[in-house]
Order: sequence, then C-alpha cells, then structure tokens
Amino acid sequence: MTIIQHGTLVLPDGLMQGDIAFENGVITRIAPAIEAGAGDAVCEAAGCLVFPGFIDAHTHLDMDSGTTVTADDFASGSRAAACGGTTTLVDFATQERGGTLRDALDAWHRKAEGKCACNYAFHMAVTDWNEQTRAELPQMFERGVTSFKAYYAYDNLRLDDAQMYDLLSALRPFGGVLGVHCENGTLVNRLQREQLEKGVIGPAGHPASRPPVVEAEAIRRLCAVAKLADSPVHIVHLSSAEGLEEVRRARAAGQKVWAETCPQYLLLDESRYHLEGFEGAKYVMSPPLRSPADREALRAAVLDGEIDTISTDHCSYRFSDQKTLGRDDFTKIPNGAPGIEHRPALIYTSFVASGLMTAAQMSRLLSENPAKLFGMWPRKGQLAQGADADMTVWDPRARWVIRAEAQHQNVDYTPYEGFEAAGRARAVYVGGQLAAKDGEPSGASAGRYVKR
Ligand SMILES: [Zn+2]
Repeated sequence: MTIIQHGTLVLPDGLMQGDIAFENGVITRIAPAIEAGAGDAVCEAAGCLVFPGFIDAHTHLDMDSGTTVTADDFASGSRAAACGGTTTLVDFATQERGGTLRDALDAWHRKAEGKCACNYAFHMAVTDWNEQTRAELPQMFERGVTSFKAYYAYDNLRLDDAQMYDLLSALRPFGGVLGVHCENGTLVNRLQREQLEKGVIGPAGHPASRPPVVEAEAIRRLCAVAKLADSPVHIVHLSSAEGLEEVRRARAAGQKVWAETCPQYLLLDESRYHLEGFEGAKYVMSPPLRSPADREALRAAVLDGEIDTISTDHCSYRFSDQKTLGRDDFTKIPNGAPGIEHRPALIYTSFVASGLMTAAQMSRLLSENPAKLFGMWPRKGQLAQGADADMTVWDPRARWVIRAEAQHQNVDYTPYEGFEAAGRARAVYVGGQLAAKDGEPSGASAGRYVKR
C-alpha cells in the first residue's frame, strides 16, 4: 500500500485535509489520517494539493499530416504529459479515406501499446462516411471508443453537412459523443489563395485566411445540423468570441452543446504571427490565435462555467526542419503546436494562483468534466474510494520557468518560452505507479489503454 499523507485533497465537493491510500492501482481509502504500517510507502504531501490525475482529451501523437509526422510519438508525448501532471490522454485514431475504422483503431493501438508513461484512450475520427463505416460503429463501442471526431476543415478529412447529419444520427442510439473541428474548409481554401495572390506568403497569412467568422459559421451550421439530428454535440478547440456567441445561441435554444478550449487561446494572441522572420510559424495552428478581446472573452467564459473542458490540441512539429516546409508558402506550414506537458502549470498559474479560480474548478475543467464527457467517470476524474489511483500531487509553492531546453516534449520550442510558472507536479501516479517526480519522468511505462 502507498499513502499520500498530509495533503489538501481536491475532492468533487471541495477541499479536504487528509491522507489517501492506494494499492494495486486503486484508491482504497481516504481519511483525515491513515497510519502507515510496515512495508507501506509514504508520499509526504504537506503544503501540496492532491488532484485527480489530469486528463488531456485532445492530443495528436505519432500523426502523419501527409507531408511530415508529428515530432512527438506516444513514448515522448505521454512522458511529457506525465511530467506535467497529466495521467490520461485521449488521442485521435483517424480513419483513412477508403479505409475502415477497425484498421484505424488497430493502427493507433500499435502506435501506443507498451510505450506510454500515462494512460491513453482514443477518439475515432471519421473521414469517410458510408454504409460500411456506419456498420462498424457498434464494434467501436465494444472496443472502448465512446467518442468520435469529424472535421469541417481540411480537404482530406472533412465531411459535408449531410454526412455530419448521418453520423450524428447514427451515434445517437449509442450515446456517442461527436467532437467537431469547426472551420469552414472551402472558405479557408479560398481565403488562403487570396492571401497568396496578394503576395502574403509568410505566417501572417495564416490568421488572415482563418478569421473568427470562419469558425463561427461552422459552429452555427453544426448546431443547426445537430438540432435536426436531435443530438448533442461537442465543439473542440473553441478559439473566438464570435464562435462562443454561437455556442450561447444554441444553448439558449435548448440544445446540448459542450465546448472545449485550449491554453493557447487563453494565454496567447495573434500578435505572435507578426514576429520577426519566420518565428510566427511556431504558432501556426488551426484555429489560429486570436485577438486579445477574443482571449478575454474565452477567459471569462471559462470562469463563468461556459467552457466544459480545457485540453491542449498538442500537435508538435520542430521549428528547425518541419515548420520550414512552409517557409515560402504559409499554407504548407504543418499545423499545430506543443502543449501536453505544460497545460496544468499554465492553467494553475494563470487562473488559480492568480486567485481567479479555485483548485476545485480547475479539477473540473482538467479532470472531472473530460472524464464524464468521455466515459471514464467514476473510475477517473475524481479522488474516491474505488477510483483508479491516477493522482497528481501539486506543489503550489514551486516557482520555475518554462524553457524548451528543459522540456520533455520532443520538439525544439515551446509557445510558452519564458513563462513564469507558479506550481508544479511534484509526484504523478498513473495506476498507482509513480510516473514522474518534480517534473522528471520515473522511467516507468505505467500507461494502460482506457477502455471506455
Ligand atoms: Zn486537434
């Protein structure tokens, strides 16, 4: 048995001063004081918060973008995640056009199996909707996949409205959750050409070709389709005030709409695209960073409870030799940025340490809500007897600076270089095994597939 002693436990109904014991990967007891017997291991957590392990429900590891493969695979990505306090990630298995869901799920299992420092699960991205795909849905649920993804952008991934309607309708009887990348892809294509025709070839063309209205329009259309299908829907990586307005509109009309945002939309803004030279390529992700007003609107929405989850959309490409694929044409810059390691520190520093948010609120956004939405509750997302021993012992007194040279993400930069962090994961337990300590990996491949 292991006992975490003297910590402040972040429980679903508030904070509690106490101890937490676990054995064989499961929490066995929570009490004001638990005595350690001979042979028990003790983790001293005085002055620390003990969170249920953080869940990152939006990552892209070992993903082939068509021109290159993400810098992080499941080994480095899950290790970085654990170092930062994340104990479960949910990645996107992605169907190939002309391929099956089964093959996609098999392929992603091969990428992850035996390599992960934290737990992992898969959403299934549907890129080719047809009768065969429909017939495969029950098998996906049998294999532990309860959530799906569809795109309104990217020519090689996107579905049209009729396909979106069919997919939503088909998932409904299973209670499946569909997350959608909301950007109007045909408009983006047109606006990209317009920028290139105007001679804009650098990173500044990226936000110019994906303005907020392109996101807001797609959200509005998706909500209309979901209403027709009488289905709830999940908006991933919400980035703009205009998009948020569409979420509000649909909710006000009685629709069930979940919204996710990411640290980059809460902390950074579009001024990054106008940095010297090619620097802006580091921030080329879709949707792009927005204006300070958008950022503030999203921060307020997070505090008001309008945002359900904060995940990263971690999708890392090296600046030195991958982002450069688009040196002469911003449309060829691989889309994505790293973040899997730093999300808890970014959110804790910016919201909790600054007094805007309670630790319990942070726990809901980073652990409880994703666990509930994606079929992992009650085993994950809370500290409770019988729940999985995924826990992050958080030292709020730690002070450190985010640096690419010190990170475990396998990439040569971080969008948060120089960020002064308040708080750090002191000990991270994955299924009861110590996966990371003081920001360094233990070397254990403690991660298991989470069959949902
Ligand atoms: Zn993504």
